[in-house]
Amino acid sequence: MSIHYYRDDLPDGLELGPVLAIDTETQGLNLQRDRLCVIQLSDGDGICHVVHFPTADYAAPNLKRLLADPETLKILQYARFDVAVIKRHLGIVLSPLYCTKIASKLVRTYTDRHGLGVLCRELLGVDLSKQQQSSDWAAADLTEAQLTYAAHDVLYLHRLKEKLDAMLEREGRVALAQACFDFIPTRAELDLHGWGDVDIFSHA
Ligand code: MN
Repeated sequence: MSIHYYRDDLPDGLELGPVLAIDTETQGLNLQRDRLCVIQLSDGDGICHVVHFPTADYAAPNLKRLLADPETLKILQYARFDVAVIKRHLGIVLSPLYCTKIASKLVRTYTDRHGLGVLCRELLGVDLSKQQQSSDWAAADLTEAQLTYAAHDVLYLHRLKEKLDAMLEREGRVALAQACFDFIPTRAELDLHGWGDVDIFSHA
């Protein structure tokens, strides 16, 4: 694994592959209150590109161009949150999407545990340390431990997708998964506009 750290934007001329693993780190889990601090990207080659926003300057033209590319498939764990965060701060709707948590919920119906750590352990035999999960991502400088943690959140998503795709295929749920992935930007938009805790499909 190697980690490339950048401040405020990706460098000019950086091209990544057609399938991109993405994660974000924020100051917290409240979409209205907490701002975007870090975006991690990997195209599955073991390299993690970390873009750090120590201040709320989100001009980032190179990053935005890459994220907005409709030819690039974006893999995320719990895409709903990151899609909302990226829409809010960068003004970009990520699409097309693949969410490993949704895929897991559609095939791993024998459990209610669908976190990244659980998926990596069960499907890949990889043990992720989550010790830096809560930390100050808006700090002027990130620690080695923070960078390693941030990188681990994207480095296994391609391999997880492979495993989950095989299970979706096996269970005949590929089309259902795709329909769910396609709905994520709408779900994120509802979150941003006040329907976060509401299931608009429920009768009540
Ligand atoms: Mn993360």
